[in-house]
Amino acid sequence: MNDMVIKTNSIKAIKARRSMVELLLSNHPQDCLLCEKNSECELQKLAADMNIKSIKYTGEKSKFPKDTSSFSIIRDLDKCILCRRCVTMCNEVQTVGVLSPVNRGFHTVISPAFSSPMIETNCTFCGQCVAVCPTGALTEVNNTSKVWDALDNKDKVVIVQTAPAIRAALGEEFGLEPGTVVTGKMVAALRALGFNKVFDTDFAADLTIVEEASELIYRLEHGGRLPMLTSCCPGWIKFFEHDFSDLLDIPSTCKSPQQMFGAIAKTYLAEKVEIDPKNLVVVSVMPCLAKKYEAARPEMSRNGVPDIDIVISTRELSKMIKEAGIDFNSLDDEDFDNPLGESTGASVLFGTTGGVMEAALRTAYEYITKEELKDVNFEAVRGLEGIKKATVKIKDMDVNVAIASGLGNARKLLESIREGKVNYHMIEIMACPGGCVDGGGQPYMHENIDTLKKRMKALYKEDAGKTIRKSHENPFIKQLYEEFLGKPYGEKAHELLHTTYTKR
Ligand code: SF4
Ligand code: SF4
Ligand code: SF4
Repeated sequence: MNDMVIKTNSIKAIKARRSMVELLLSNHPQDCLLCEKNSECELQKLAADMNIKSIKYTGEKSKFPKDTSSFSIIRDLDKCILCRRCVTMCNEVQTVGVLSPVNRGFHTVISPAFSSPMIETNCTFCGQCVAVCPTGALTEVNNTSKVWDALDNKDKVVIVQTAPAIRAALGEEFGLEPGTVVTGKMVAALRALGFNKVFDTDFAADLTIVEEASELIYRLEHGGRLPMLTSCCPGWIKFFEHDFSDLLDIPSTCKSPQQMFGAIAKTYLAEKVEIDPKNLVVVSVMPCLAKKYEAARPEMSRNGVPDIDIVISTRELSKMIKEAGIDFNSLDDEDFDNPLGESTGASVLFGTTGGVMEAALRTAYEYITKEELKDVNFEAVRGLEGIKKATVKIKDMDVNVAIASGLGNARKLLESIREGKVNYHMIEIMACPGGCVDGGGQPYMHENIDTLKKRMKALYKEDAGKTIRKSHENPFIKQLYEEFLGKPYGEKAHELLHTTYTKR
């Protein structure tokens, strides 16, 4: 109504707001000290902001069984405040449709259909529902105690790899500005925690590019199926296996960098340092909850030895650093160990949407033309748009590429491929909107787009500052092929670095 005056901070409004929060708390376990979300919970903050010291409403509380069925996500619906953010994320943004409200009134619960455990659903474990959940109702599976146990076991050698997106976000957990690159401090902290060697997933991202570019060229030269889709995101792969199983021959067969790292560590590295792979524990620090699930896929182990033993998220790493009493901000920068710690500018771009494509184009260009690529910056594939398209001239060939981030956008692209409406050579897909910088295991950023942009910018800055910016020029990758793998996309590379997909 015109001329209406609405007071949002009157005593009456403040009291009504407080009553609403009290009502939410009256049906809440109130076990904040033991909660995974302790000190990061929006409900806890709201209660503190509203100066709530006691709850006048008493009565029955909801009681639901905890869902601990998956490797990635725990559902503790006693802590759910029915805000439905996860429902919107899963249904409207990701278009996966796992979570929805079931029952009515006091018995309402957010659940998969038929109350199925998450592991039995088509959940991709992208973790985007966890990223938006304000309370401890949806959290990651916390593997930090497994890492502590491994570090405490004198019979084991424990090594760690850190994904590209971690270095652009970990600092936020220690009060640093979003976008502060903390690579050196992160390496120092991991050493202080007791890891025997600190390696870089970026090394394996370079390896992925060499294999992926070789596969693309093979498909181009041998009339293989196009477009070729990138395969480094396990959330996207599971989505694909459920919803587009008629197109199982189009994703690249390359394993993700995490898994390539594990396969190389348990073979090449184990041989080099003369250790039984059974006594080598490989820990991954990932921005991602789907990587926990990916590491547990049966095809990701050989002779009963998994390539990756434990996966923790950026958030879990920060908890370990705090638990150990390490003063993160005053650590001096340290370098990764070699041979699996050297990387190029191309590999760090894996952390953001468009980055895998840009890295692949840098290598594919030189493989195809046999000429030096002078300007390595492919601006057309950068930026936060959900779907990006570009045509890149390689020799006399127009290479059509597309990039999608967020599974809703991926669905649109895949449907156009299925209908034969588009003509792309290569497509990059990331399950999380914006890519891994916005992964489900990253510090909570409460949908702050500015934080996301700063994380992305940090990765492009890291790339620009590197002396070597093309994956195939990484000297340790060259050495790996010379000493162990033979040629790219060759027999041994296939055995260790490639995989197959399953109709689900
Ligand atoms: S992890 Fe992703 S796919 Fe699974 S329920 Fe959450 S938002 Fe949906
Ligand atoms: S986002 Fe969390 S609190 Fe909100 S409905 Fe989903 S599970 Fe419940
Ligand atoms: S985009 Fe990155 S963080 Fe998100 S599911 Fe894929 S690999 Fe994981």
